[in-house]
This record gives sequence, structure tokens and C-alpha cells, in this order.
Amino acid sequence: MAVFHRALVTGGAGFLGSHLCAALLDAGTEVVCVDNLCTGSMSNVESLRAREDFTFLDVDVAELDADDAAFDGLDLVMHLASPASPVDYQRLGVATLRAGAIGTDRALALALRSGARFLLASTSEVYGDPLQHPQTESYWGNVNPVGIRSVYDEAKRYGEALTMAYRRDLDANTAIARIFNTYGPRMRGADGRMIPNFVRQALAGEPLTVSGAGTQTRSICYVDDTVEGLLALAHSNRPGPMNIGNPTEMTVLEVARLVARLAGTDASITFIDAVEDDPQRRCPDISRAADELGWRPRVDAETGLRRTIAWFAEHSRGAGVRSELPIGV
Ligand code: NAD
Ligand code: UDP
Repeated sequence: MAVFHRALVTGGAGFLGSHLCAALLDAGTEVVCVDNLCTGSMSNVESLRAREDFTFLDVDVAELDADDAAFDGLDLVMHLASPASPVDYQRLGVATLRAGAIGTDRALALALRSGARFLLASTSEVYGDPLQHPQTESYWGNVNPVGIRSVYDEAKRYGEALTMAYRRDLDANTAIARIFNTYGPRMRGADGRMIPNFVRQALAGEPLTVSGAGTQTRSICYVDDTVEGLLALAHSNRPGPMNIGNPTEMTVLEVARLVARLAGTDASITFIDAVEDDPQRRCPDISRAADELGWRPRVDAETGLRRTIAWFAEHSRGAGVRSELPIGV
């Protein structure tokens, strides 16, 4: 695989972005990380900051200045800046839409000007509460445009449309990854998503809060697999959209029981109110990524959750986050 020389990672101090920055640096790529720390944390990139080939800029992606010399010589732009947890994006609705709309425009313009490959971190949420199962990239989705998740779903759908317009109208070299639920070390304990909530609760010996009947499904992908898939897409010449996720589907209740067992704390389960507009089934069809990239996830849920639980047991949660959230679901 040819090495990228200089990459911009927006949202690089977040969970997924920080793993991506580390993987790019390991591959010999200089990395510029842009993040406004609204849901990310400096602690995620602390180990990278001493390196000469890593630059951190505390900047809102919607304010990116293409003339900043820090962006000279880019050959890759990976655009991840956006709140991603439902608790976060419902708290930061306008900011989420701005990151997905204005931020994506700024990041695309920068990539176009530099002649860089551009990758949009889109999401399985573009499928909404899907009526087709498993979800293939040709499925158009079932999204409530004014519901509580719309700030995120529609921002990402707009981002996809904008990416395709830059490609069609301006010949930009673009790719769209539709990422399915990814988990692992460095998730914020209080970001409100299922896995950090369950792990934190299990380690504290508290009941795991399963919403509704827990029969809704997710397909969880360990972060190393997702990072490999995103880099494989970046290195290819494929435009996507490309589903990147693990096709092993589990109910939320099964995930809760597995976390409780692996944490070894015999934590009980408590059922809480169902979440509004909660997608009921989510599972990627990854044939396109397998055929076009030769990629498929390798880490099973038990292995990935063991690593995640071990990390949470060892680290303090949420350090350095500017506006810490209450633990929410
Ligand atoms: P995260 O909240 O840990 O990371 C997002 C990062 O973006 C944070 O560091 C945050 O501070 C930063 N950010 C947000 N708005 C910004 C702005 N306006 N300017 C600069 N920085 C900004 O979430 P994550 O799980 O790491 O998600 C990263 C990306 O991957 C997001 O775009 C998300 O939509 C996408 N994604 C993630 C998942 C997943 O399961 N983790 C699934 C689908 C898509
Ligand atoms: N969920 C839950 N308990 C929690 C947090 C989430 O049962 O403490 C459920 C949530 O209702 C959804 C699933 O877990 O059905 C995944 O939610 P998450 O917030 O991780 O992300 P989503 O996939 O909905 O974006």
C-alpha cells in the first residue's frame, strides 16, 4: 500500500479519530488533527503530542481556514468531526448540523484545493430505522427528518450528498464510509452509548440499563477493525458509499448480558423506557467492502469486549472533556 505523506483528521481527538491518527502515524504519515474538543479529549491524543509528525489544532471544523499553512501538502483528508453519541448530538443539535454541513463543505474544499483523497465518516444512521435487513448500500433509508435523531441523520445525509456533488461537479477524489456501531478503548464512560454505559455500570456493580425490551439489535465492530476498513477505503480508489461494520447481529439485551458476564461482576439488568425513534434492527451487508477492499472484521464481540472492559477498568473516565455530560441514556 502506498503511504500517504500528510493527512488531516478532523475529530482526531475523539474515540475513533484518535485511533485513526495513531494508525496513520504508525504507517509513516504526518498527521494534522483538528478538533474543538466538544466531545473529544486531549487525553486521547496525549501520547501522540510529543511526536514531531503530529500537530494538534483546537479548531471548529466549520471555521477551517484553507489558507492556514498547517494544511499545506495534504494528500488525505479524513472528516470525522461530529458528535456521534445520541446523548451528545441531541444536546448539541445545531453544532452537529453545522459540523455535518458547513464543516463537511470546508473539509471537502480543503481536500479539493490540495488534490487530496477525501473520506467522509458517515454512518449507518443514514438508513434510519431500516425497513430492509441487512442494510446494503443501495438502500435509501427510513429517516424521520424532524425527529430527535434528525440533527445527526440529516447532517450525515447532507454530508453524503455534498461529497457526491464535489465528486460529480468538481472531480474531487472522494469516498464515503457508512460506519456501523464501533466500540473500544477511549470511548468516554459518560458519552451515553450502549457499550460505555454497560461497561461502566458492570464494573461499578450497578444494574445495566437496557432500554425498552432490549430486543432491538445492533452489530458491534471493534475499533481496530473499523480503522483498518477506513484506511483500506482511503487507500483504494473506490467512491463508496461503503458499509464498514461487523455483520454479527445481537440484541441489546444479549450485549448487556455478555458485558455483565465478561466483567465478572454479576451485575443485574434493569429495563428503562424505550428511546424515541430508536432503530429496531441494524446489521450491515458488507459484501461491497469484502469484494472491493478485501476487508472484513476479524475481532469477535467477546474478544473486543474483554479488551474494552480491561481498558475501562484501568483508566479514569472522561478526563479533559470540556463539557462533561451527566451519565445519560
Ligand atoms: P467522538 O464524539 O468520540 O468523536 C468526535 C470528535 O469530533 C470529538 O473529538 C469532537 O470533539 C470532535 N468534533 C465534533 N464537532 C466538531 C467540530 N465542529 N469541529 C471540530 N471537532 C469536532 O465520536 P466517535 O465515535 O469517535 O465518532 C467519530 C466519527 O465517526 C463521527 O463523525 C461519527 O459520526 C462517525 N461514526 C462513529 C460511529 C461509532 O460507532 N463510533 C458510528 C458511525 C459513525
Ligand atoms: N441503549 C441501552 N442502554 C443504554 C444505552 C443505550 O439499552 O444505557 C440502547 C439504545 O436504546 C439503542 C442501543 O442501545 O437501542 C444502541 O445505542 P447507542 O446509544 O450505543 O447508539 P445508536 O446505535 O442508537 O446510535
